[in-house]
Amino acid sequence: MVKKWAREIIIAGIIGILTPISTSIGSKLATDDWLNYVELVPDYIWIIFGIAIVAWIAYVAIKKRKNEISGIHGILINDPSTMWFPWVTTLHKEVNWRVVGSTQNYNPNAIILGQRPPHCPKCDTELEQNRSFWRGYIWTCAKCNWKKRNKDSFHTEAKRVERITKSELEKRHGSSFS
Ligand SMILES: [Zn+2]
Repeated sequence: MVKKWAREIIIAGIIGILTPISTSIGSKLATDDWLNYVELVPDYIWIIFGIAIVAWIAYVAIKKRKNEISGIHGILINDPSTMWFPWVTTLHKEVNWRVVGSTQNYNPNAIILGQRPPHCPKCDTELEQNRSFWRGYIWTCAKCNWKKRNKDSFHTEAKRVERITKSELEKRHGSSFS
């Protein structure tokens, strides 16, 4: 399934490309000239339209990055109705992840949460994450200066940890978790 932000960017791109093309096709059909209608629209309207499309795409991209960074940290504290407990510490992408689950531990609907940030493999301190200048992220340990470059963020890797843990639990306890 295409992610929501990707879909929004694709839609913006399609509208950006289709609007001048359909104007031109309409012009050809009605007046037998590709450019009659296109020229009828003042230049500044096309410029504003172009800027709006670019701004839309930029907005979706910025929103996506913001969502990734903000994460879901508060859940453990904010939901007193669910008891959370640590399940396992697991190694993924060279760092330690704490995985917690809800009280219905082997229920198929149990919620499994890969906690962020992960911890340093050397000294078990919470890692910091900064965007790399070119691409990806740099994870650093404030205590022992351990450092690693990773293509994806804490958020994305934590989701993978959740899926892997769920799969391992299913293997261990049967597909029904019971
Ligand atoms: Zn460390």
